[in-house]
Amino acid sequence: MTILIYIYLFILGLVFGSFFNVVGLRVPNKQSIINPPSHCPQCQHRLGVWDLIPVFSYLFNRGKCRYCGEKVSPIYMTGELCTGVLFVWVFAITGYKGELIIGLLVVCLSVIITVSDLKYMIIPNNVLLFFLPFFIITRFLFPSLPIWHYVVGFFVGGGILLLLAIVSRGGMGMGDVKLFAIYGFVLGYQQILFALFIASVIGSLVGISLILFKKVQRKQPIPFGPYLALGTLITYGYGDEILQWYRSFLLHL
Ligand SMILES: [Zn+2]
Repeated sequence: MTILIYIYLFILGLVFGSFFNVVGLRVPNKQSIINPPSHCPQCQHRLGVWDLIPVFSYLFNRGKCRYCGEKVSPIYMTGELCTGVLFVWVFAITGYKGELIIGLLVVCLSVIITVSDLKYMIIPNNVLLFFLPFFIITRFLFPSLPIWHYVVGFFVGGGILLLLAIVSRGGMGMGDVKLFAIYGFVLGYQQILFALFIASVIGSLVGISLILFKKVQRKQPIPFGPYLALGTLITYGYGDEILQWYRSFLLHL
């Protein structure tokens, strides 16, 4: 039975991921997410039902547009696969609990802002405002900690990033600040600090390697949203275990 849930969540994730690509690419441009219907950016040909099947249409058409033969960016399929895998991962961690809804919402928000931040360096306000009430309702319904942990987390997450934004003079955007306030509300104030630590470590490693391999200039701003999302997801999945391990590690010193 459980295996069927995994398969169901994976396919659901692929379909949602396909939709999140559209949301992440269109919302920052103030375009409608339903109009015009999906089309090839090169030849403008409207995509049919078969072209819209996540992952498979890309593989079946060997990564090319069926109408004009132009290469389709693998980024779409990556977004779909990531969402599918993360949906399954969340269920593996939470099981049949209210927390499952919160975990899936975190994945949804994270995929959308990753797409738009990588493409445009924008974390759209509309997307954040759309998700915020869902997180508030579900956190009040399914708290794992006293509710003030989450409220304080909102201000700690947003507050620290606001400080960083002021210090870095625009290196970090207000979109990052608001995003991290929301993540802080989801994780609570203890775990959000840990999420920031992980995000910084991964962000620095990637940033340094990009500079070393001359993929980016030293002064070129890098989108920080995807790292915040990654740090939050890792903490969401394994934060308790890592903090426990860390505490016992300190005790044995
Ligand atoms: Zn085309």
